[in-house]
Amino acid sequence: PSGGFVPALVIGSGYGASVTALRLGEAGIDTLVLEMGRLWDGPAPFCPMLTPDRRSMWFRTRTAAPLDSFLWLPVVNRDIDPYPGVLDRVDFPNMKVYVGRGVGGGSLVNGGMAVVPQRRFFPEILPGVDVDEMYGTYFPLANRMLGVNSVDPAWWEAADCYSYARVSRADAAKAGYGTSFVPNVYDFGYLEREAAGQVAKSALNSEVIYGNNHGKRSLDKSYIPAALGTGRVRLQTLTRVTGIARDGDGTYAVQTATIDESGAVTGTALINCRYLFLGAGSLGTTQLLLTARETGALPGLNDQVGLGWGDNGNVMTARANWKPTGCVQASMPTLGIDATNDPVPVFAEIAPIPAGVETFASLYLAITKSPERGSFGYDRASGTVSLRWGSTQKDFAVSAAKRVFDRINAANATIYRHDLFSGNRAFGDDFCYHPLGGAVLGKATDLYGRVSGCPNLYVNDASLIPGWTGVNPFVTITALAERNMARVLAADGLHN
Ligand code: FAD
Repeated sequence: PSGGFVPALVIGSGYGASVTALRLGEAGIDTLVLEMGRLWDGPAPFCPMLTPDRRSMWFRTRTAAPLDSFLWLPVVNRDIDPYPGVLDRVDFPNMKVYVGRGVGGGSLVNGGMAVVPQRRFFPEILPGVDVDEMYGTYFPLANRMLGVNSVDPAWWEAADCYSYARVSRADAAKAGYGTSFVPNVYDFGYLEREAAGQVAKSALNSEVIYGNNHGKRSLDKSYIPAALGTGRVRLQTLTRVTGIARDGDGTYAVQTATIDESGAVTGTALINCRYLFLGAGSLGTTQLLLTARETGALPGLNDQVGLGWGDNGNVMTARANWKPTGCVQASMPTLGIDATNDPVPVFAEIAPIPAGVETFASLYLAITKSPERGSFGYDRASGTVSLRWGSTQKDFAVSAAKRVFDRINAANATIYRHDLFSGNRAFGDDFCYHPLGGAVLGKATDLYGRVSGCPNLYVNDASLIPGWTGVNPFVTITALAERNMARVLAADGLHN
């Protein structure tokens, strides 16, 4: 069946896609946004983090949290009914990638840390992108649009819910490492009111990876209402794009499948558009492009599609520090350890363990400058795309993180915890939160996300970033998407 024609179509509703939809709408271009997840609306749509139900994860029969055991016991995960839940884990050999599903993409499940990369690293993060323009215009614009705010240091120093971060700060200082506050999109005014018992708790109720019911300015509270408010943007949920192709008349044909809450396909459609914007995230966008190239649906795509994927050097680790770190830990991180002057730069987010009980542990998500890159391959027999990531490709990142935390442990006479990641491991080295690359800027696309060999086809999400941002990536993804749209709308003559 035909779904008709729209001038512009955006696939996905995460950071890149939301920016794209808003700027298209403001330019008067009629735009359809397709999102495979559901709209998370209503007063408190998300399930409790400590007693997850079917709303927690994308069509699974058991939750799959990154910290999957405690004192070596499998007490963390729960059986659930399959449902279009908000957090997905896409499993490849040696690498499990966490992504958000729903209107707002990763903004629904992430820690809200809104970090601008250190300027000195930027030429390596996005080669070919004007540094002055990014730091003068697009990073400030992204921060403003996302509603980024900073915690009040005086309140923070006395807040019970950040005692875990103060303990980690002191431990890092003993090893000679400084820390810095990181901004967030969680409303710290709301958090202060949570702590004062004045409002419903969210960050103080362990909520984060399965969604925050309050306090967080996710994209469904920032860019997406602004996009819909232009009157030019429509949003269709529970609709997955299953294939893209270019027709003889130069329009793009987008194949869709709509599902119900059980996952059953309730309808398929073919929608044609003049301008197609891919914002399905690093995995989603790369999968669509690679499939289109390998099946001949978009033969003009170049050989860079599917290359340059990285995990932002993500490594998780935990220390047993013998000191109490607090029963109630605010789930929104506020502090990072700056080891960026080490031989391998490391920025380690001081993460909460929102278990609701005293764990005497400190948790970290280290972002290491790992040179390891993976690539995607298309399997003709099954018609699926898979990430190629070798079993030793995390070794570099782990050794960089280990260097930092060995030093912190030595300075504090502490040790690693081995009970939190299954398999008795001190390092969570088989997953990532920050998938980046697959359709890299200046390689698979030009320097503004225009896909090489395919006029009017654009990539505008994390796929453009070649594998590493040095810090948590969403501000960079947002700022780059703003920059690309400014150029495309000024130069490409888009019309209805
Ligand atoms: P996404 O936000 O991933 O959005 C892509 C959207 O496209 C999704 O909604 C998806 O459902 C949809 N989609 C995919 N394929 C299709 C298809 N075929 N058809 C229709 N729709 C499709 N980053 C930070 O900067 N700070 C943090 O504190 C932070 N914490 C994180 C914590 C967790 C648990 C996770 C998982 C991530 C975290 N991140 C964080 C990473 C950040 O969320 C991602 O980098 C960011 O969301 C990527 O943005 P994007 O625009 O590329 O795509």
